[in-house]
Amino acid sequence: MSLIVMKFGGSSVGSTERMQRVARRIADNKEAGHDVVVVVSAMGDTTDDLIDQSKLLNANPPAREMDMLLTVGEQISVALLSMTIDALGYKAMSLTGWQAGIETESVHGKARITDIQPKRIFDAIESGHAVIVAGFQGATDEGEITTLGRGGSDTTAVALAAAINADVCEIYTDVDGIYSTDPRIVKCARKLDEISYDEMLELANLGAAVLHPRAVEYAKNYNVKLVVRSSFTQNEGTSVKEEAVMEQGMVVRGIAYDKNVARISILGVKDIPGVLAKVFGALASNGIDVDIIVQSGTQEGKADFAFTISLTDKEKAIGVVESIREEVPYREVTSEENLVKVSIVGAGMVSNPGVAAKMFKAIYDLGISIKMVTTSEIRLSVIIAAERAQDVVRALHSAYGLDTAEQVFVGGPQDRR
Ligand code: ASP
Ligand code: MG
Repeated sequence: MSLIVMKFGGSSVGSTERMQRVARRIADNKEAGHDVVVVVSAMGDTTDDLIDQSKLLNANPPAREMDMLLTVGEQISVALLSMTIDALGYKAMSLTGWQAGIETESVHGKARITDIQPKRIFDAIESGHAVIVAGFQGATDEGEITTLGRGGSDTTAVALAAAINADVCEIYTDVDGIYSTDPRIVKCARKLDEISYDEMLELANLGAAVLHPRAVEYAKNYNVKLVVRSSFTQNEGTSVKEEAVMEQGMVVRGIAYDKNVARISILGVKDIPGVLAKVFGALASNGIDVDIIVQSGTQEGKADFAFTISLTDKEKAIGVVESIREEVPYREVTSEENLVKVSIVGAGMVSNPGVAAKMFKAIYDLGISIKMVTTSEIRLSVIIAAERAQDVVRALHSAYGLDTAEQVFVGGPQDRR
């Protein structure tokens, strides 16, 4: 007998029929004698629809009211799912985030979990219930309702698993697990049996949407055994853990790409001490995350530098740079979009010389120029023009031996049943 946390995303509970399928899966676990705590997201596109609806009434709604609104989505899911389980003849009890004891900091829209008091969860388990907890929500000390940021139900699930010391936290989604790259681009992408927390964190941060980065961080910090698997099949899924076995002869685990990139260049900057501190200090205090920074050689006391940010922050970043022009004199600020960041990730990369060279060669062979490069211990990213990004992902996938013979179905869950 185990204590299992099962998390179902919005598409897994997106219709009556899917809700019943999920209820069946939970009932099967109860039948097998396990204790189950379930975390669910809002059904289908509910969260997006609620956001759209709010915008019709207020283009810039107060964050507190937004949280009040969005938390409704998950509450619909938990109530309906509990009823569905009840209809199958099993005991189930739904709980909001705050009823489940999830406490957060006082930030609306992206609060972090500060503590979990799982007494009610344990009581409900004790009395034989499958406990169905609303994802993505919590409350502050003062009883204000908060949300954890888009995709935050993963974090609820992992944090609960840590708090109740669950044997495993299973994240059910509409794909079979974590893939070596996006199967919509590379048809012969491989499903990974295992991946390490660090690798998963890189991939999640790079835009692989299967898991929320904060959930992975949490899993790593609390050593929660995570499994990502399909809610439509019985396949085993991908296990995310501290040390993951790498297949013989492989160094790269996965390839990610991110289209949300813009490059800002500041040209002819007067090269005085503290320039970088001023520019990046101003960006940071305006909440803009900078990714890659490149400074090119100085000429006649003037330097050029360029950095990348999220495309969505572009206008704001230019505004910030313009606002500090008096403090940091420069000739010109320019920006570039239609870029993509393509990254290779693998824990074995550091100890394997030639990994970077292979990447550059594969891109060169396609006649594509690399605009920027950045590395960490387990990742190497390049910025290239967006139009050839898919070709680059495919070429790298083959170059690192990741192609499989099988083709992945990406036509939707129905096709994969
Ligand atoms: N329903 C929320 C969202 O769509 C939370 C989640 O799905 O994890 O972002
Ligand atoms: Mg959702």
